[in-house]
Amino acid sequence: MTTAAEHALLASVEKALLIDGTWRPATTGATFDVLDPATGATLATIADAAPEDGIAALDAAVAAQDAWAATPARTRAEILRRAFDLLQERRADFALLMTLEMGKPYAESLGEVTYGAEFLRWFAEEAPRITGRYGPNPEGTGRMIVTQHPVGPCYLITPWNFPLAMATRKIAPALAAGCTVVVKPAHQTPLTTLAFAQVLIEAGLPAGVVNVVTTTSSSSVSAPIIADPRLRKLSFTGSTPVGVALLKQAAPGVLRTSMELGGNAPFVVFDDADLDRAVEGALVAKFRNIGQACTAANRFVVHTDVAGEFAARVTERVRAMRIGRGTDDGVAIGPLIDQAAVTKADALVRDAVARGAHIATGGEPIDGPGTFYQPTVLTGVDRTADLWREEIFGPVLAITTFDTEDDAVRLANDTEYGLVSYVYTQDLARGQRMVERLATGMMGLNVGVVSNAAAPFGGWKQSGLGREGGVEGIHEYLQTKYTLTADPF
Ligand code: NAP
Repeated sequence: MTTAAEHALLASVEKALLIDGTWRPATTGATFDVLDPATGATLATIADAAPEDGIAALDAAVAAQDAWAATPARTRAEILRRAFDLLQERRADFALLMTLEMGKPYAESLGEVTYGAEFLRWFAEEAPRITGRYGPNPEGTGRMIVTQHPVGPCYLITPWNFPLAMATRKIAPALAAGCTVVVKPAHQTPLTTLAFAQVLIEAGLPAGVVNVVTTTSSSSVSAPIIADPRLRKLSFTGSTPVGVALLKQAAPGVLRTSMELGGNAPFVVFDDADLDRAVEGALVAKFRNIGQACTAANRFVVHTDVAGEFAARVTERVRAMRIGRGTDDGVAIGPLIDQAAVTKADALVRDAVARGAHIATGGEPIDGPGTFYQPTVLTGVDRTADLWREEIFGPVLAITTFDTEDDAVRLANDTEYGLVSYVYTQDLARGQRMVERLATGMMGLNVGVVSNAAAPFGGWKQSGLGREGGVEGIHEYLQTKYTLTADPF
């Protein structure tokens, strides 16, 4: 099923666990298959770690910690910068690898290489800027010194939807801060992480600083690592229920945690919006990554006066979207990650229809091979529908209407999530009011994508804790020490 170029690329990726600078099989010898969601074909067979492999990876991270923390920030930065350069050189390979194992269209995969690599460049620049404060205490009897220190060995758990960027967004700040790590990618998309670990080694990273465990037993491999008192930090990107379970596991050890969890983004279109821009923004906010993004617009909240035209225009564009394997030219909609995702999207559509929604286009799974769902537009969605509360995580654009600005705010904030919101209005004062009133950690004002390595990415409410990227990102991996020195000097 794979072409010769794809075959060669897949053959170049390590299929083993990376522990202490060595590629090794799982202690049990177990393996698992990584599948192409567009065809169901096996792409590669890789090591399936057992709990003892996870602990061996932590052993390596612990052993490497002191030397890495003592490595000059400039040296750490140069390794990250070399990794950035190598990713640029291998853009096409990384993009193809992501399209193969995750399914997104190749052009979007190239975009993810740009985005993911930027975390390496950004945190290479941040590493030498870890600073502190010095000054007299208010009583004038001593000097206060505030310094920053790496938190120590970290466990990083990443999801399948952005296989490169979710890894670099954690690994780069951790390394920049002087922390060593164990990384556990999602079982559906481990190949990108393995290939990226190869890049880090080539960039000069010492053994044990980054360790990778791939497994189909994420719970039994993770639990002993999280319970180990040598671990000092857990950073997780994934669903809110798993995040909650991990927070409970992290509590006894009082671990530092960063949680990038689920979203349920409102996309609000006011009657004064530039509809051309709103339609373009809607298409990218909804259909990027085949709707499988935490930042995906989940609920379209559109003013009654423009809802008909907005729906007609997006429907026309969605009908024209080409569906297929992400490697094929012009494909906008690749497969969903697995059959469970197709079943979920379909159940949400059926439920919305049972509660009065109208299918403007799509609304059906597509027969295999592969796990495809038609790009779909629903109008007249009732707020009792399950998709109003749950992340759709699929190519389904669901529209409901509002009449007043207060209504729009109430509807937009009607969720326990708070990751991102999108607002389209040409009224500057209204835009400012929405910045104040919407309860999300991020907001796109007349734009449909907000992600940027230079920005603090993260959510409010049940969308998570902490920030990734920006000047904030490195502080997730640093701890503060305050020292008081008595006068006189
Ligand atoms: P998920 O099921 O929560 O899995 C995420 C990661 O956690 C995977 O590596 C998974 O490994 C692992 N995992 C699952 N159960 C675990 C357990 N009991 N112990 C330890 N690890 C466990 O989420 P997903 O379906 O992969 O990703 C989609 C979710 O991620 C959505 O909710 C989305 O909104 C969220 N997300 C959030 C952000 C953000 O920045 N806020 C970014 C991207 C995605 P296995 O799959 O191998 O079991």
